[in-house]
Amino acid sequence: MEDFNRTTPESLLVVAAHPDDIEFCVSGTVMQWVERGTRVTYCIVTDGGAGGYDPALPRQAMADLRRAEQVHSAKLSGVADVRFLGYPDSFVEPSVELRRDLCRIIRQVRPQRAVIPSPEINWSRAADLHPDHRAVGDASLRAVYPEARNPSPTPPSSRKKAWSPGPSTNSGS
Ligand SMILES: [Zn+2]
Repeated sequence: MEDFNRTTPESLLVVAAHPDDIEFCVSGTVMQWVERGTRVTYCIVTDGGAGGYDPALPRQAMADLRRAEQVHSAKLSGVADVRFLGYPDSFVEPSVELRRDLCRIIRQVRPQRAVIPSPEINWSRAADLHPDHRAVGDASLRAVYPEARNPSPTPPSSRKKAWSPGPSTNSGS
């Protein structure tokens, strides 16, 4: 029997709250999978406008800079498909709108595996306490299961065919 945890996925969706989260958390693993042929899509939920350390830089300029950095970094990791949802940085909630946006992307990308932030609080790592991370994790988990696989999802999603990441629940295209 195939050990799913140790196999290389054919396709992967990585969802993150901010431009740079993936680089901090999982890009090394992504690069290894890309090297083995995995098709990878990044989905960045916020515009990143609340980040950075230069108070003189307008927030939109910061968002533009971080978006460009994310695209560049993804390219260096072998990832060309980067999608930005543009939600305001630091104000993310696991809303119906966000869940619908994530469902749409899951159905478009049809990943075999999804890497998402944890919606749980990890008191031992301050960076994990950012509410955007947990909100994106919560919304992503709901989008992966059950919403993207449900033909009649709540919330209503795209008209694309239902999809569930994993090796055995999908047939064909
Ligand atoms: Zn972050």
